[in-house]
Amino acid sequence: MSARCLDGRTLAKQLQAELATHIAGVDSQPVLATLQLGDHPATTLFTRAQGTLATRLGLGYTSTQLPSDVTQAVVEAQLKAWNDDPGIHGIFVQNPMPPQIDPQCISAVINPLKDVEGITPHHTARRFFARARIGSCTALAVMALIESTGESLRGREAVVVGNSEIVGRPVGMLLLDQLATTTVCHIATNERGHLQEHIERAEILVAAVGKPSMIPGAWIREGAIVIDVGINVIDGHTVGDVEYDTAAARAAYITPVPGGVGPVTVTMVMKNVLEAYRAQHV
Ligand code: NDP
Repeated sequence: MSARCLDGRTLAKQLQAELATHIAGVDSQPVLATLQLGDHPATTLFTRAQGTLATRLGLGYTSTQLPSDVTQAVVEAQLKAWNDDPGIHGIFVQNPMPPQIDPQCISAVINPLKDVEGITPHHTARRFFARARIGSCTALAVMALIESTGESLRGREAVVVGNSEIVGRPVGMLLLDQLATTTVCHIATNERGHLQEHIERAEILVAAVGKPSMIPGAWIREGAIVIDVGINVIDGHTVGDVEYDTAAARAAYITPVPGGVGPVTVTMVMKNVLEAYRAQHV
């Protein structure tokens, strides 16, 4: 079998065309504000990409960069100022954050109505009850790519590798919402040597670890849907967590890295800005 490539750039363009139409139809311009802490080059690139896309879709956009030695109090003050500003509809804090910053406290400060990353305790709790209005951008992107295959998830074996709060866990919840039989693997699964057996039975595999090609293609089940979230830069080249060529020979569908989950994730940020705007104008 040779896998069909799940081209995130193509899906993102389709979603963006629909989104631009919806944005053009609202009464005033929704505005996204992003906060970068430090000067991590990948974050700077991602921030620029967000700004370019926001502007292209008709959203307003502003970004603030604070130095890497910024204090928690200064970050929280910036977020509270945006919470109180009626001209800002969506707030996004870039990762990674410097070690002195507590991401959980940060997520608790953002007004849930303006949280376009779906990270506040409010949205996390609603996700538990399958009632999140704003979802985690990356998890929404993963689900959109799976949906684009037209395959039903009901009763299928889904395996997520990685259990972070912003990717692995929300993806696990959304797969459960679709009644996939869902296993979330993590560092301890690997320590016990059980990763291979879980991956080998996955009809849907989502890899979200951040270790280059750590999942051998030979472990992929024939006919699986493989969604590779990982972004790893090796000698100037970006690769995912799954060994692509050998996995593509076994899977039915596979996302490339780059050009898979990434473009859809940034589009989901913009979709969430529109959702946040609408929630503030009911
Ligand atoms: P984190 O580092 O926060 O989480 C990684 C997860 O993988 C943790 O749960 C970790 O467990 C687990 N893990 C680490 N090593 C192993 C192993 N050997 N076997 C199984 N599990 C393991 O990363 P993120 O979730 O934020 O991101 C994951 C990847 O996805 C990164 O490459 C990131 O760059 C990328 N990413 C891509 C996006 C996109 O749009 N394409 C968006 C967001 C992220 P533990 O915590 O116990 O160590």
